[in-house]
Amino acid sequence: MPTLQAAIDTLQDAINEGHFSDAKVDFPASLIRQFKHRGSLSQKQEFWAHKLADEYLNPPEKIAPVGTKVADSFLPVLALFEKAAGKLQYPTIWLCLADGQPVITSRAAAHSKNPGHLYVKLPDSIGYAGKVSPTGEFFPVQALSPAGSKEIADLLTRLGADPIGVATEYAKLTGRCCFCDKHLDNEKSVAVGYGPTCAKNYQLPYGVNAMHEANAKKAVVITNPVANPIAAQGRLKLDDMIASVRSA
Ligand SMILES: [Zn+2]
Repeated sequence: MPTLQAAIDTLQDAINEGHFSDAKVDFPASLIRQFKHRGSLSQKQEFWAHKLADEYLNPPEKIAPVGTKVADSFLPVLALFEKAAGKLQYPTIWLCLADGQPVITSRAAAHSKNPGHLYVKLPDSIGYAGKVSPTGEFFPVQALSPAGSKEIADLLTRLGADPIGVATEYAKLTGRCCFCDKHLDNEKSVAVGYGPTCAKNYQLPYGVNAMHEANAKKAVVITNPVANPIAAQGRLKLDDMIASVRSA
């Protein structure tokens, strides 16, 4: 256990940082005052000084981990943000869920409380939705449904695995660049889903080669062989006719 002096110093830090609400700040403030005045505290007061200091330093986890450690699947998206962290103070990516709800993911700065974490926000509903640790664990808030946290986890995983694919998808839906939320205004940018500046920031290809790559992906989707629907329909009708003739 830290010394009482250390606990008092911690409480002072906590007050300075606005950790306690106005309704709750009087108690720790009076502990500090009394300690400074007398150089000691009663046993009970000492207990509370340590307890409050400890709660500040190790806040009770308000968010429940998803349960499964999905480290590997998040590493590429963490790496993507890390690349941009060399160029941008707060790399942020704008995406949306299947229902069109915006999802904003940003990387915490090196000097922040959770350096290197990705913060996920759903600005239209619950606000702060959770964080991804640098080791690749996703900690959604309890307000987020299991289906919602899975959708976010899948989206971030896909973003890491295929940033151009996800950026193109977002650009098609919104006409915007997912890396800066600005309108895309030329053919090269629309093709890949981001502009030249964001390409540099996130170390992604830009220009003719990137366009070919994006187009090749689209072509795969379009030429995906499917059974000829008209032929299938004809066959079905014939079967129906045979069945109805037989049952008559
Ligand atoms: Zn951009």
